[in-house]
Amino acid sequence: MGGSGWVSFGKRKKINEAKNNVQINKHVRGLSDDECETDELVSLVGTDCDSDDEDTCGKFPTFFMPKSMADYEWEVGTYFISKEEFIKAIRTYGLQNERNLKIGKNDKKKRVRVTCLGSKGKCGWIAYCAYVPIVQTWQLRKIVDKHTCCREFNNRLMNAKWLSGRIENTVRENLTVKVVHIREKGLRKWKVSISHTMSFRARSMAANNIDGSFTKQYKRIYDYAHELRRSNSGSTIKLKVEDHDGAKIFQRFYICLKARFGGELLTVMARDAKDQMLPLAYAVVEVENKYTWSWFLDILIDDLGGRPNIRPKP
Ligand SMILES: [Zn+2]
Repeated sequence: MGGSGWVSFGKRKKINEAKNNVQINKHVRGLSDDECETDELVSLVGTDCDSDDEDTCGKFPTFFMPKSMADYEWEVGTYFISKEEFIKAIRTYGLQNERNLKIGKNDKKKRVRVTCLGSKGKCGWIAYCAYVPIVQTWQLRKIVDKHTCCREFNNRLMNAKWLSGRIENTVRENLTVKVVHIREKGLRKWKVSISHTMSFRARSMAANNIDGSFTKQYKRIYDYAHELRRSNSGSTIKLKVEDHDGAKIFQRFYICLKARFGGELLTVMARDAKDQMLPLAYAVVEVENKYTWSWFLDILIDDLGGRPNIRPKP
């Protein structure tokens, strides 16, 4: 949010009233809202707004979760695609900044008020998000973005669902990551001592999410087959599925690519623990030679974790 103060896009009558009482406070920003506690708001009115319709003037950003919420600056007017999206943003912001925020009860399913519990409840940080029927979405209507509290340990915003999102990459790399490692991470990264039960649940939720994304990828296999056929005319693509009570379960996939400009197929086979051969990777190249094989194998070696560090013998 550039500049300072809060910007109201209310009706002109309200704007004129407020113009006579302009105060500036760079941490307090809000939108005019009859249901919001207006006496807490300090107002600087947007003078370039000529619209008589509330909420239609000005272009507001739609929230997109940044890589880190640690230095996030809340911008009044920001749209959130759902209440859950707003709460997730609040949770991430609170945990990454070690601020103990309290997410208020969802008032009539239309409003969410968040306060800071720091300084024994005296910290003035406030966020207020409401559903705006005219645009059918949630909007940050007010923010007092200044903490007078200190950072706190054992943030109550931590829950298994939020944690599961944060450990998904770790679980993807190692499905049996130890619960104790998750607890250590919680303490190290967010200064929260996470219970064994919560860590365990978070790991299960992350594993389910990963499974779910694999399932979603299989759902796109028809699209993949069509795309292969479209972009390599003359190729043979066969997909075999089994019918399980109306649900189609993937069984086999056959691809024989005949690229328009020719080309050759290179494949690398591996041998499993039962001594059976299985294809590991394939590439279509313009011609089979030392150069194309090196290119293919270099990529494959990187994909399999790179070359081991072989030290020359002393
Ligand atoms: Zn605070």
